[in-house]
Amino acid sequence: MLIALLPGDGIGPEVIAQAVRVLEALDCGLTFETAAVGGAAYKKAGHPLPPATLDLARRADAILFGAVGDPECDSLERAFRPEQAILGLRKELGLFANLRPAKLFPELADASALRPEVASQIDMVIVRELTGDVYFGEKGMRKTADGLREGYDVMAYNEAEVARIAHAGFKAAQARRGKLCSVDKANVLETSQLWRDVVNEVSADYPDVELSHMYVDNCAMQLVRNPGQFDVIVTGNLFGDILSDQASMCVGSIGMLPSASLDAAGKGLYEPIHGSAPDIAGQGKANPLATILSAAMMLRYSLEMPEPADRIEAAVARALAGGARSFDLGGTVDTTAMGDAVLAGL
Ligand code: NAD
Repeated sequence: MLIALLPGDGIGPEVIAQAVRVLEALDCGLTFETAAVGGAAYKKAGHPLPPATLDLARRADAILFGAVGDPECDSLERAFRPEQAILGLRKELGLFANLRPAKLFPELADASALRPEVASQIDMVIVRELTGDVYFGEKGMRKTADGLREGYDVMAYNEAEVARIAHAGFKAAQARRGKLCSVDKANVLETSQLWRDVVNEVSADYPDVELSHMYVDNCAMQLVRNPGQFDVIVTGNLFGDILSDQASMCVGSIGMLPSASLDAAGKGLYEPIHGSAPDIAGQGKANPLATILSAAMMLRYSLEMPEPADRIEAAVARALAGGARSFDLGGTVDTTAMGDAVLAGL
């Protein structure tokens, strides 16, 4: 199995290096090829997503991505900015389903913004549609009849787009506790009414999954009131953007959270949810656990290797139970030593 390593900028290479150490220690037949992406690729090849990088991403069985973003590139024309690389990869590879698990490690209950007894219930996955909705609809600036400036962004989903993300949500629920909550705003939005109708239609293929529907405003409330009720949430791009960040803060540090972006065949790009953190790059302060947990997701969702995935997750839990705390978790353990702690727990 070929893994494309795209370390990117800032702390990206530092956290990817630790994930590779863990994957190599598992000795499960993976080979690795590395390519530049983001600001590093722009400086080397004049583009944040050069053809050689895209080619590697296409050839690989899965992609492990660090982070992109470089303050030195902030004044470039938008098409050459590092962040365009991730948008380009999603588009070119058809990565339409974003999976973000949120689970509280008991050792980190104090890091949650919620009371420990509420936070300890959190064990969910948010499946967010990534390539449609208001971000990709017609948009612009115009003048109203009264001469006022007006911005507009059209929200739209067609039934095929909804069906495909609904299938991803039902499959994720089947792989977990069998509960799917579809989140929309069907009381006011036509887009959401279609969403709800199509999710109901698709549910006929998954009689083993218990489906419920919830309005997005209620969901935002329930995430902090009673997060234990959720197993898998499936939702559109805009609602998912907001809800997944909210769920993240319920389980503590940004340095702990992995994610996956999948295509229709289950091939995926795996990355920590954090960015390139230029403020701490090169100082050994980056927490590599989000990237190490992203590697575990890669084994589980794209490579059909659930056992080594379980081993990684258990080793992370052991490292935390043993007291390993990086700077973001209030400790002083550096990036390599966090990697060492996970290796010791494998
Ligand atoms: P960020 O996630 O990089 O950092 C936010 C804060 O969290 C910073 O204080 C940082 O030090 C800290 N942090 C992040 N990851 C950490 C880790 N693993 N360990 C310890 N602390 C960590 O977000 P930002 O500062 O808003 O953005 C920085 C750059 O990253 C920008 O250029 C942005 O566009 C880019 N970005 C990229 C991605 C991506 O590659 N998918 C995602 C978000 C932001």
